Amino acid sequence: MSSELGHDCVIVGAGLAGLACARTLHHAGRRVAVVEASSRVGGRVSTDDVEGFRVDRGFQVYLDAYPEGRRQLDHKRLDLGRFAAGAIIAEGSRLMRIADPWRRPAEAIGGLFQGVVSVSDGLKIAQLRSQVLARLRADDLGDQRRGDTDVSTRDELLRRGFSREVIRRFFEPFFGGVFLERELATSSRIFEFTFAMFALGSGCLPAGGMAAIPQQLAEGLPAGAVHLETPAVAVEPGTVRLANGRTLTARSIVVATTFDAAVSLLPGRIDSAAASRTWKGTKLVAFAANRSPLAGPRLLVVADPRDARGPAGPIDNLTVPSDVAAGYAPRGESLVTVSVRSDWHGDGGVEEAIRQQASQWFGGQALDWRHLTTIDVPKSLPDERPQARAQRPHASLGDGLFLCGDHLTTASINGALASGRLCAEAVLASA
Ligand SMILES: Cc1cc2nc3c(=O)[nH]c(=O)nc-3n(C[C@H](O)[C@H](O)[C@H](O)COP(=O)(O)OP(=O)(O)OC[C@H]3O[C@@H](n4cnc5c(N)ncnc54)[C@H](O)[C@@H]3O)c2cc1C
Repeated sequence: MSSELGHDCVIVGAGLAGLACARTLHHAGRRVAVVEASSRVGGRVSTDDVEGFRVDRGFQVYLDAYPEGRRQLDHKRLDLGRFAAGAIIAEGSRLMRIADPWRRPAEAIGGLFQGVVSVSDGLKIAQLRSQVLARLRADDLGDQRRGDTDVSTRDELLRRGFSREVIRRFFEPFFGGVFLERELATSSRIFEFTFAMFALGSGCLPAGGMAAIPQQLAEGLPAGAVHLETPAVAVEPGTVRLANGRTLTARSIVVATTFDAAVSLLPGRIDSAAASRTWKGTKLVAFAANRSPLAGPRLLVVADPRDARGPAGPIDNLTVPSDVAAGYAPRGESLVTVSVRSDWHGDGGVEEAIRQQASQWFGGQALDWRHLTTIDVPKSLPDERPQARAQRPHASLGDGLFLCGDHLTTASINGALASGRLCAEAVLASA
């Protein structure tokens, strides 16, 4: 049954989840309208043009092994540039290279970890790899709701017998950057899934910037289906009230916003434990450089020195997106981006502190980096500790009302795409 406006379903929010939901419904022959508060699609996946540089709003990578990405996106058209496997680990003024812990962990034992990882830890990485891949094949690592037997990533690493040294030097800086927290309090299920994705594929950036991902999804919708700058102010069964005074009606309504926006649109309908979830934030600082300090598609992460009381500087991780995908910088220039540690409280400006810290690895060239922009993203990822994930709401709220978004699955591109598709399937099953 269609509404008087000809929609079977109205979707509030054009982030990845809302777009994936709309696309699945559209492919099933349903007429959809998507209302989006901001002036662009993509939500937390967006890219700014700053003086000809493509600056993603917060450092993000797309993993080309993501099962939902493979199902829903055209990788070829995204023209993905790939990061080299492994990472450069900075400890004090020293740089160490980890070759490829994901695909060839045994090489750790041959010395390619340059002393970062002991033989015993290298063997445990190899065992972790084969176990998570076996569980992935058995469909035991997906985004579906699971029992409450989950533990934190740190507890899981300790249970597996990893040394505190490899946790400090590798797992904390690498996965701390992925989870946006170095305590490694994030669910071990998310850790294992992410580990499997790195083992099967590469971290990537689309040539057009991360925003090319939601743009591709939106291009798959009929013209006029997405209404930008159209915030919803209230949602009730069958009705979406808009800030512009109009009301849209449809048999099914999907709220595909962040969890806190969903709570205010649907007062009393979301369990209070799920509604009180908190956010993790991050900050990105972008610079223009005459040449790339990394000279290749690499990621540099910073390990805390042993017994450190706090970070030695603001840099959490540093990369050169224009080495990964050429479209990120004008010809002849390099884009350097730095994620800033949330626990850095140094004196003075963060840009100068970054230049100073980077100059111990790259010499005087870092002092000449030209600041382009600083982007604060206080609401980057919902709390992903096991106890917070256990309270995730269900997609179907009853009365034709549905929820989707990364807060129902995992805080990732894969999680958002999966949640949108699964929500659309629930809508189709209900109608
Ligand atoms: C800095 C950062 C780094 C990340 N790094 C990675 C990474 O490396 N790899 C990875 O896989 N994932 C990463 N993620 C996570 C990933 O980007 C998110 O999980 C995903 O984009 C969430 O999509 P979503 O559709 O659930 O929510 P959102 O993108 O938040 O979409 C919600 C949409 O709803 C709209 N909206 C809100 N209120 C209203 C209203 N009242 N009316 C209409 N519209 C409304 C918003 O404007 C927004 O467009 C990162 C995220 C951030 C921010």
